[in-house]
Amino acid sequence: MNVRKPRIYLISLAGALILLGLYLASLYSYLLFHIIAEIFSIIVAFSIFIISWNSRRFIDNNYFLFIGIAFLFVGLMDLAHTIAYPGMAVLPGSGTNAAAQLWISARYIQGLSLLAAPLLIGRRLRFNWLIPSYGLIVLLLWVSIFYWQNFPACFIEGVGLTAFKKISEYVISLILLGSIFVTFQNRREFDSMVLRLLFAAIIVTIISELFFTLYEHPFGLPNLIGHFLKIVSFYLIYKAIIETGLVRPYDLLFRNLRQSEKRYRDLYEEAPNAYLSVNIKGKIERANRSAAEMLGYSRDDLIGQAALDLYADTPYGKAKAEGVFKRFMAGEEIRDEELEMRRTDGSSVWINLSVRPIRDKDGQVIASRSEVVDITEHKRLDQLKDDFIGLVSHELRSPMTVITGAINTVLTESERLSPAETRQLLKDAALESESLSHMLGNLLELSRVQANRLSLFTEAISVRKVIEDTVDNIKRRSSVHHFITDLPEKLPPVYADELRLERILYNLLENAVKYSPQGGDIKVSVQADKERLIIGVSDQGVGISASDQARLFEPFQRLEESRPDVTGGVGLGLMVCRRLVEAHGGQIWVESEPGRGSTFFFTLPLNQG
Ligand code: ADP
Repeated sequence: MNVRKPRIYLISLAGALILLGLYLASLYSYLLFHIIAEIFSIIVAFSIFIISWNSRRFIDNNYFLFIGIAFLFVGLMDLAHTIAYPGMAVLPGSGTNAAAQLWISARYIQGLSLLAAPLLIGRRLRFNWLIPSYGLIVLLLWVSIFYWQNFPACFIEGVGLTAFKKISEYVISLILLGSIFVTFQNRREFDSMVLRLLFAAIIVTIISELFFTLYEHPFGLPNLIGHFLKIVSFYLIYKAIIETGLVRPYDLLFRNLRQSEKRYRDLYEEAPNAYLSVNIKGKIERANRSAAEMLGYSRDDLIGQAALDLYADTPYGKAKAEGVFKRFMAGEEIRDEELEMRRTDGSSVWINLSVRPIRDKDGQVIASRSEVVDITEHKRLDQLKDDFIGLVSHELRSPMTVITGAINTVLTESERLSPAETRQLLKDAALESESLSHMLGNLLELSRVQANRLSLFTEAISVRKVIEDTVDNIKRRSSVHHFITDLPEKLPPVYADELRLERILYNLLENAVKYSPQGGDIKVSVQADKERLIIGVSDQGVGISASDQARLFEPFQRLEESRPDVTGGVGLGLMVCRRLVEAHGGQIWVESEPGRGSTFFFTLPLNQG
């Protein structure tokens, strides 16, 4: 609407200029004015017909088609009126009276059509009788005026306008008022803007009619103003038709198109995977948001880039991409190739690439569409798993070395060894076997979790006994630590899997021993509230930084890389703890200050079982 506003001023200005021009023409010759004014409204009337006729497929409102057809004949009638106008001397029998008769006929047709049109809304229009009927009426009127000459007189020389003419103008005004009323009753069928145009047109017509009751002779001022107003009213109807038949349908059409275009763009734009369109020269033509985000480019920077330049300078990067490029240029469809790309910040992105070649109608490959899936995280986990297997094998080997060494020594050197030494060797072997079996136990738990086969055997257990047994067990592994248990007098019974609870505690205590190499207190405490037990295991060891705390319970996380001074395990214990605690419906977390020790907490719900 805003866009149209300046046009309204322009159109009004042009309209004013035309009317002014007409006025000037009337000063020179009223006949000239009349011809131009009438031809103008005749052109508009014919245009109304042509537009409504040709846009009849878009318009679901019969009103306008009917009006269009009516205006064709109104235009023809007005043409006859112009030709018969006094001073034209073209038709025999023409003159002021005939012109006025034709005029009044035209206005009756116009008024009655405007009155009838709203009544036709929603009905089928039968053109095959409508157009001939109008034609017949117009023909009969012509014959009546020129040949039979039995049409009531409208103008008598020396007397002026007849009563018939004047009354007719009033009757026509009433008909027009009636048409406003009927149209208003059907206002739901019209766009509000169109309705306003229509009403304005009809009201202007009424005013114009009233001017035509006033003139004394056909060249006076009221006649001039009447013709001006007629032009304006025809123009307003023409606007209403344009609006209904052209502007609205196209708006609607384009709106639908825009909507469906937007839907597809959204689908492409907001797809979770990256999409790239690459042309025959290997340059990127289109890229969706995921693509830009994945590679860290702005869209503008991405478009126009050579696709190959986006790959890393590694065997799985550019080198492999060149091979893939050749293959799809040869017409092959590429599926699930793993490649390494390079982000703007220099880091690498592993991707899974599928490419479909696009061909022209001769089958020649002219472009390609690629789907790119970011598998960096996947690759990282794969790598972690590989590292993990290496670490686990390594970790399993060191206790095995101790065990086999001790047993072999006892076996081969039994005579030389004192009973105390033999005992010590066997004790070492037993301790290491225990830690070996514990580690294998953790591995088994992990594989159960991975396979979704972790099931608990819960029963009412004594948490006190599990804690005391596990602490006793771990005590044998360390002589430098001081173990404390801080348990309330009365502990509510808990439903839990005893062996799993033991494993959780063992893992936490083993870590407490391992990560406080200088010794110190290791304390197990229990608090109970209404819903849960909170069990804490604290040490006075190296502690864990806040950023490390966040990833501690994730799979295969070892913090050793960032803490080279501490020898570590394989990053299995805490993950198993978390899975087992969560399987019990509890939570696990850590509170720690680097250098001052850590406390691991976990909860067990009390309302189980
Ligand atoms: P690991 O076999 O490496 O001990 P865990 O899953 O038990 O595996 O622990 C993961 C990491 O968390 C450890 O490598 C260690 O860096 C850190 N961590 C665990 N417990 C403690 C603790 N009590 N004090 C300091 N760091 C700890």
